[in-house]
Amino acid sequence: MTDTPEQALEQAALAGIHCLRIPTPFAVGRVNCYLLQDDPLTLIDTGPNSGKALDELQQQLAQHGHSIDDLELVILTHQHIDHVGLVEIIVQHSGAEVAALGLAAERLANFGEDAEREDRFAVELMLRNGIPEEVAHALQTVSRSFRGWGARAQVTRPLEDGQAMPFSNRVLQALHRPGHSPSDTVFWDAERRILIAADHLIAHISSNPLITQPLDGSPERTQALVTYIASLQKTREMPAEIVLSGHGEPIVDHVALIDDRLAKHERRKEKIYRLIAERPHTGYEIAQALWGNVAVTQAFLTLSEVIGHADLLVNEGRVRELDDGEVIHYEATG
Ligand SMILES: [Zn+2]
Repeated sequence: MTDTPEQALEQAALAGIHCLRIPTPFAVGRVNCYLLQDDPLTLIDTGPNSGKALDELQQQLAQHGHSIDDLELVILTHQHIDHVGLVEIIVQHSGAEVAALGLAAERLANFGEDAEREDRFAVELMLRNGIPEEVAHALQTVSRSFRGWGARAQVTRPLEDGQAMPFSNRVLQALHRPGHSPSDTVFWDAERRILIAADHLIAHISSNPLITQPLDGSPERTQALVTYIASLQKTREMPAEIVLSGHGEPIVDHVALIDDRLAKHERRKEKIYRLIAERPHTGYEIAQALWGNVAVTQAFLTLSEVIGHADLLVNEGRVRELDDGEVIHYEATG
């Protein structure tokens, strides 16, 4: 039995999976990368593109008797820069192959242009949902300043949903679990019942279902929370004993955690419905009613959160979007 996060880490280490905690400059703190001591020698996620992250990665690999040069495979769990930033440098040193969801390969390869496009999309979305122009543009500036922590990644092993990845001592199954980002992929060791879930499920924070452009390049936005809830329900059904996350401690009871998250979303959805039922609201007005005047850096996160719940209500037929050509208001249908 695995009762505590400490035991989970020990058990993972016995299975040759070592958690490396790499520093990031972001509010989320350290990112968990995983060294998989198997053949091929594999690193799951890399940490951000910074000298400090690279130094710590080298040091922590050395504690397990390896260096960056030894890595043969890098697996990327999703497109966020705290997870992929060092990939280019690692490949230059090691010549490692890079595995990631095939659907995300083009975006990972065109990181700079893609980030610029995503920022423009976010500004447009914020303005359409009533966020003041100065806030939207300030956020774009912040996002640009973060870009140096990312890097392009050339995916040499594109993965499909459900694909089995054989190693000498195990098989990992890649499973697409979009929601937190459209490329979220989890890796399932069915024999050991270990799920490497990255940011799909995190013990101490609710994974933000960020609204983005879809991976296929179509102009429609994602229904990130709707997608995320469907992904959580799939993960809930898995007989996992240990879930290894992209931040914080391992999860030893993923069903209880997921039930808790689903209940929280349900409560938030009803709270948002009550606001909309009083009178039509923009996404920004709802965010302000729920959280007050949040920091600029939080504006997009909170808006994503609001729109995600409004999507649920729209899909249920209880709310509709009123578009006056400039701003979208949500109004109750009943
Ligand atoms: Zn992430």
